[in-house]
Amino acid sequence: MLLIKNGRLIDPLSKKDEVVDIAIDGGKIKKIGKIEVNEKFKKIIDAKGYIVSPGLIDVHVHFRDPGFTYKEDILTGAKSAARGGFTTVVCMANTKPVVDNVKTLNYVNEKAKEACINVLQVGSITKSFRGKELTNFEELLENGAVGFSDDGIAIMDTEILYKAMNKAKELDVPISLHEEDSNFIETAGVNDSEIAKKLGLKGGAKTCAEDVMVARDCMIALETGAKVSIQHISSGVAVETVRFAKSLGAKVYAEAAPHHFTLTEEDVLKHGSLAKMNPPLRTHKDKQTIIEGLKDNTIEIIATDHAPHIIEEKSRAFAACPSGIIGLETSLALGITSLVKEKHLSLMGLLEKMTINPAKLYNLDRGFIKEGAIADILIFNPDEEWTVKDFDSKSSNSPFIGEKLFGKVKYTISEGKIVYTDK
Ligand SMILES: [Zn+2]
Repeated sequence: MLLIKNGRLIDPLSKKDEVVDIAIDGGKIKKIGKIEVNEKFKKIIDAKGYIVSPGLIDVHVHFRDPGFTYKEDILTGAKSAARGGFTTVVCMANTKPVVDNVKTLNYVNEKAKEACINVLQVGSITKSFRGKELTNFEELLENGAVGFSDDGIAIMDTEILYKAMNKAKELDVPISLHEEDSNFIETAGVNDSEIAKKLGLKGGAKTCAEDVMVARDCMIALETGAKVSIQHISSGVAVETVRFAKSLGAKVYAEAAPHHFTLTEEDVLKHGSLAKMNPPLRTHKDKQTIIEGLKDNTIEIIATDHAPHIIEEKSRAFAACPSGIIGLETSLALGITSLVKEKHLSLMGLLEKMTINPAKLYNLDRGFIKEGAIADILIFNPDEEWTVKDFDSKSSNSPFIGEKLFGKVKYTISEGKIVYTDK
């Protein structure tokens, strides 16, 4: 048995915020309250001065497994997640082969059993990400897929997307969408502005590339009643559109990535390809609108889009290098530093977007702390300052290296086991 003593429990589902002890036994939370120390407890964690919350949930990661395991694999991705305070992640399907079939899904599920945290997988919406033919949703769900996404590319064929949303509605699973129309993109990964020109490029990715897709998909979500997640929202107009669609009754959810509420397009000049991601960093105004969206709950979810690439790939010329940055090990600290310390969100508000809200979107029985629940727990110090320097991920493509951030993970507990301890 494991005992967490004197921690400040913050649980966004019950809205509890109080100092308690928590006893864990057999992977479950056994008791919450005042608990006397006795010899049955094999390990006691002194959590005085620390926050105890549900383990974090990230519904958008790329573990590159199978196919690109030189960048990351399920086991190293899980280690990186544990160090960041995450106990559940949802992997995207743009692996090689694509997770559009049961065989590949089973490979992921088998390897996930050895991971130190709960690793889940979406199936792709269309076969081979071609946007032409739907995968077999029922069969993939029966074999453990938790939702569907062609993350990485937008689904341009409206008829296919309409069918996908109808199916998703029938099966009560989320459809998660990468919203970029490549017709409005000259060079991906940088905003279409003076910044792109300063990099010597003809142009970048227009916000319109995202806005047209979000507008279309919000309206199809309204029509079908499907649960639709707009992934890594980067444009202020897209945030306004989601707000409007919600007001009409659409079941639209939006995810913001820590880089989009922390950085702007100016950071691309500073960090080069380490600040290249799709959709790109945008203007100060876009960033402010995202923060407003987080504050008024237009954006309910924070997800990292953890996208590992090795140094050789990221050191190519800007236009030729792959998009994406890692995010699992800096996500909590960026939330605390950029949102909580800046008084945009309370700790409760931040944790809600990193625990129970993503759990609800994907119908997971996790993301809360109560007696009898799975013991997925994060213990952290919100006021401890640390410098980003190394990672448990196989890759280190982060523009945050060298940055001083607030909020340090002390322990991550997954299904009752301590899977990360801060040294
Ligand atoms: Zn994406």
